[in-house]
Amino acid sequence: MNVKALTKSTLEKLGVNKADWTTGELKVDSPVTGETIASVPMTEVAQVDSIVAKAQTAFEHWRAVPAPRRGELIRLLGEELRRSKEDLGMLVSIEAGKSISEGLGEVQEMIDICDFAVGLSRQLYGLTIATERPGHRMMEQWHPLGVVGVISAFNFPVAVWSWNTALALVCGNPVIWKPSEKSPLTAMGSMAILARALERFGDAPEGLVTLINGKGDLGAALVEHRKVALISATGSTRMGRIVGPKVAERFGRSILELGGNNGGIVAPSADLDMTLRGVAFGAMGTAGQRCTTLRRLFVHSSIYDRLVPALRNAYESVSVGNPLDSNALVGPLIDEDAFDGMQRALDAARELGGKVTGGERVTITDAEGGFYARPALVEMPEQTGVVCEETFAPILYVMKYEDLDNAITQHNAVGAGLSSCIFTTDMREAEFFINAAGSDCGIANVNIATSGAEIGGAFGGEKETGGGRESGSDAWKGYMRRATNTINYSTELPLAQGVSFDI
Ligand code: NAD
Repeated sequence: MNVKALTKSTLEKLGVNKADWTTGELKVDSPVTGETIASVPMTEVAQVDSIVAKAQTAFEHWRAVPAPRRGELIRLLGEELRRSKEDLGMLVSIEAGKSISEGLGEVQEMIDICDFAVGLSRQLYGLTIATERPGHRMMEQWHPLGVVGVISAFNFPVAVWSWNTALALVCGNPVIWKPSEKSPLTAMGSMAILARALERFGDAPEGLVTLINGKGDLGAALVEHRKVALISATGSTRMGRIVGPKVAERFGRSILELGGNNGGIVAPSADLDMTLRGVAFGAMGTAGQRCTTLRRLFVHSSIYDRLVPALRNAYESVSVGNPLDSNALVGPLIDEDAFDGMQRALDAARELGGKVTGGERVTITDAEGGFYARPALVEMPEQTGVVCEETFAPILYVMKYEDLDNAITQHNAVGAGLSSCIFTTDMREAEFFINAAGSDCGIANVNIATSGAEIGGAFGGEKETGGGRESGSDAWKGYMRRATNTINYSTELPLAQGVSFDI
């Protein structure tokens, strides 16, 4: 398969201008074969000021458009995404190395959030609150916030943008998007699709959604800009540690969606067949490159010898291969650095007494330049060192436990707090795991592994995952400002708390 030719025809079908992917200095390599498939012009840091100014002007127009009308744009975006699902999904597979099914799944997620946001455009509700003063009414209104800067990671190159953009637009805000430097093509494909929706919509202001391509320094310029009201940044905890304080310093608002080191517990009563399938997808799917990938597994000692050998078999037999070949379940790592990081983590685990199954490089015919690795299952004597960190690769550390309280303590003992799960058929254990003293993560599942969230729920995690929430539930409130209004319709002027001030 000629990946370069496939990239070209896919970009053409999506309607991306040839000059936008052939004439720049940012080289784009496909993880599928390792070859350079495009070169994209980079936005200069010095341009950020005028781009933000344009977005600010767009804001002044867009915030006055009624929210249901703003929702109409998102309805059209959803329609255009449905039309281009196959092509954008293919581009995700080419640029991020996902299987065809997962590439399509990512675009489906974009469609789902559009549907959600269209409904939301008629439901940006505020409360009416009882007041203590006669002849008064108190209420909350939710107003558009301002320019939203979206910084996204390579591994969900388009879904994260759509979660943010569908909500931000419906909430009345313009968006400036800085995608990962590893995935500018899918970003341009998404923008071409959005352009068709904007054209059908008719009267959206210029600069409503702007794509800027570049590296961390470009993201930093957006982060530091005082006119960017909200920074929604998705990526590593390392990046969040820089971005969070920078935004806070200027009293901006941030939504941080950072790294995960997600854990699961397999209790004695677990349905082991379901557990095996759940763990396999959670830990090996997307070649371990999801923020929600399952990375640590605590297995009760009474079932350890039944589950772990079955897992080992799954690791030894799972098909690793070219993601554009629909038979492969595990595709490539994003690049050589990711492969090297995986090997370093495995060496460190071995030094701590870890017993490693898999992890070696796999050579794929006609894709020799891609960094494919067999997923690694590592049986650890205890949770120490490298197990406590996120390595963005398919490594699952397995540990034995005796007592559920202790397993939950261990589970919660790492820095990240994104996603978690328990496999059990014991109702008491299940409820305990998701109660206040159970998992400390933003996502806690029962009989489902840690990955594969739906858009209806709020997505995000605690502690070093950053605390941000995106997507469903009431995450939209993060994209709006709340105004509390008290209206006096009486002829008196009573003061709150009975205070008197007679002049
Ligand atoms: P990364 O942190 O290397 O890059 C993410 C984005 O941040 C890129 O666009 C990058 O250019 C930008 N960036 C880097 N330094 C910056 C700076 N100083 N200022 C502003 N922007 C900067 O992450 P990655 O390797 O692309 O993605 C993998 C990581 O993302 C993993 O840690 C994964 O867990 C995490 N992730 C988290 C979520 C979530 O929702 N919690 C979702 C996807 C990925």
